[in-house]
Amino acid sequence: MKTSTDRRRFLRLTMAGIIGITLGDQILQRKALASEELPHLAEDDAQASALQYTHKSPHEENHCGNCMLLQGNEGDEWRPCSIFPGKAVNVNGWCSAWTAKPA
Ligand code: SF4
Repeated sequence: MKTSTDRRRFLRLTMAGIIGITLGDQILQRKALASEELPHLAEDDAQASALQYTHKSPHEENHCGNCMLLQGNEGDEWRPCSIFPGKAVNVNGWCSAWTAKPA
């Protein structure tokens, strides 16, 4: 005969299992995204043009490499950017959404 303590324990273990599976799946998806070769953002892409994106920053100090919105792995030349989902931007590039990384 099951006691309420057994049921609570069963529910806790079940919830922990569901949370563990969900977190594990999210980690695997992020790793897949990070390692996947994203297509490079074209300078003549409509959204890129609207934000004046260029592969070579016209500014000496501001470039994708020190923008808070850049994602991906440090050291990669082409990296994902949260402004242009599904595309990779050049770390030497720039757009008008440039935002300084917090110090
Ligand atoms: Fe580069 Fe603009 Fe993306 Fe910042 S927001 S990483 S400047 S493309």
